[in-house]
Parts: sequence; C-alpha cells; structure tokens
Amino acid sequence: MADRDATYQADCLFCRIAAGDIPADIVFDDEKVVVFRDIHPKAPTHVLAIPRRHLASVADLTDADGDLLAALFSAMRRVAEDAGLGSYRILSNVGAESGQSVFHLHFHLLGGRSMSWPPG
Ligand code: 5GP
Ligand code: ZN
Repeated sequence: MADRDATYQADCLFCRIAAGDIPADIVFDDEKVVVFRDIHPKAPTHVLAIPRRHLASVADLTDADGDLLAALFSAMRRVAEDAGLGSYRILSNVGAESGQSVFHLHFHLLGGRSMSWPPG
C-alpha cells in the first residue's frame, strides 16, 4: 500500500487516489503533489493537480501554504510542457455553486482545444 498522508480521509476520493487506494492515470507525482487524468475529460488534455494533504478547497489555504502552491503550479507547468501545450487553462472550483463536486483541493488543467470565455 502506498503511504497515506497524515490528513488522509477514508471517505475522500482524492485522498484515496493520492494514497494509491483507487487507481488513476497519474502523469506526475512527488512528495507533495499528484497530477492525474480526469476520468471525464473536457479537453484533449484534462488533468487534475492535487496536494497529498487533504484540504477541501482553495478556501482552506493559508498564508503558510506558499510552498505547496508553488509545487502544484510547478507540477502543472511541467505536465503542460510535456504535453506540448502552448496555451491552456487552469482553474479551481470553490464550493458547490461554482461546480465543485470533489471536496479535496484540485486544480483542473485543460488544453488542446480552443476555449470560450466566460465559463458557464
Ligand atoms: P470539480 O467538479 O470538483 O471541480 O472536479 C472534480 C473532477 O473530478 C471532475 O472533472 C470529475 O470528472 C473528476 N473525477 C470524479 N471522479 C473521478 C475519479 O474517480 N477519477 C478521476 N480520475 N477523476 C474523477
Ligand atoms: Zn482528501
């Protein structure tokens, strides 16, 4: 079994993916971060970048989380570069009204097609 973070929550889908308890198509991981393909991709490249530490959303970040955010964005930049993406979108839904359905902090990275603005 893979290592579980101290904040592991057995009822959290993304904690379980980070721990290796549920399979995912992982494209990058290190001690802080896991990046894996979204199961229902909305673009040719659609990955989710999560911290191994359980946080419900961006709303739970604090001023002490700068290193974690740097690790998440570095991982996404590397994945985008490896996929050959010159243009892409990164977003994070915060709360159900915005569209959040999994309450473990994650950033979507989408690329490989033209996108409209604003989102629906
Ligand atoms: P949210 O709606 O919270 O912003 O994004 C959650 C994302 O997780 C959705 O895009 C959804 O397709 C994805 N997702 C839900 N369940 C799974 C799963 O079991 N595996 C993977 N890889 N992605 C999932
Ligand atoms: Zn979690």
